Amino acid sequence: EKGRGRWYLFSEDDQGKEQLDARVLWREQINQALTQNRFELHVQPIIEIATGRIRHMEVLLRMRDARGGMVYPDRFIPVAERTGQIQAIDRWVIDNALAAMELRTDLRLAINLSASAMDDPLLLTDLRHLLERHRIAPERISFEVTETAAINSLLNATRLMRGMQELGCRFALDDFGSGYASYAYLRKLPVDEVKIDGAFVRDIAKNPEDRIFVKAITDMAHGMGKRVIAEFVENAEILAILKGLGVDDAQGYHFSKPVKLEQPGTPMVFDGVLSDM
Ligand code: C2E
Ligand code: CA
Ligand code: CA
Repeated sequence: EKGRGRWYLFSEDDQGKEQLDARVLWREQINQALTQNRFELHVQPIIEIATGRIRHMEVLLRMRDARGGMVYPDRFIPVAERTGQIQAIDRWVIDNALAAMELRTDLRLAINLSASAMDDPLLLTDLRHLLERHRIAPERISFEVTETAAINSLLNATRLMRGMQELGCRFALDDFGSGYASYAYLRKLPVDEVKIDGAFVRDIAKNPEDRIFVKAITDMAHGMGKRVIAEFVENAEILAILKGLGVDDAQGYHFSKPVKLEQPGTPMVFDGVLSDM
């Protein structure tokens, strides 16, 4: 019925069948996107609050469907984690981010790693080769991994972080506060930066408890010599509060939505602000 020699496994209960159908279709979508070059890197600036300057940019992945419509990572990353395609996606992102950095020597990027990257024994060696191939100074790169992913693979994550730091890259703990948010883990993990989960930032102007939480995390992280980044900074009021709490860097719609990473020579416009990066 769906044509082109596709086959499906059917189960008695409809919901199971639909889920399976959906996953088979997504797997194929992702494969096609990889082979037909339908993934795109978008970037969003991360601003140093004290100076208002762009410190670096976070790489955010997008996929185009066959009709050219934009597909966001919350749709396909969880599927790719289950189908095992996430490793190919992580490699694609790193390779293309480094290729862009080779062309734009002013670019410093933060790259998201998936949970399964923590347990990927080849990632470190591959990264070393890519850095050499693209002739990138490792200080220009920082990696982001979620608190939950790091803690679920504590040993491997620690090893990966140390290995990447030996190369000269930085490491940030993403979505901090959404999971364990404990002092013990923060002390164990050799991260340079803590990225506070947007859920604690978005409503901070209205919610005094969020303020207390962000302040506590910031003081704790600073006490350990780590930098603090807040995401979901959506307006000037939030920014002013974060500044008062001592947060170092801010990222969010207040500064710019993510925009497509353009070829060199094409200026990138962040919601009206022309980047010098
Ligand atoms: P994340 O790493 O926590 O990224 C932040 C998400 O918040 C992004 O969504 C970003 O577009 C969005 N955002 C930024 N500023 C604001 C704001 O002011 N308000 C609100 N409400 N949202 C804001 P996006 O791009 O849809 O990415 C979703 C998630 O997908 C990311 O969460 C990350 O976990 C994952 N992801 C994105 N790119 C990659 C990638 O290249 N590799 C891997 N493994 N995961 C990725
Ligand atoms: Ca991130
Ligand atoms: Ca987040």
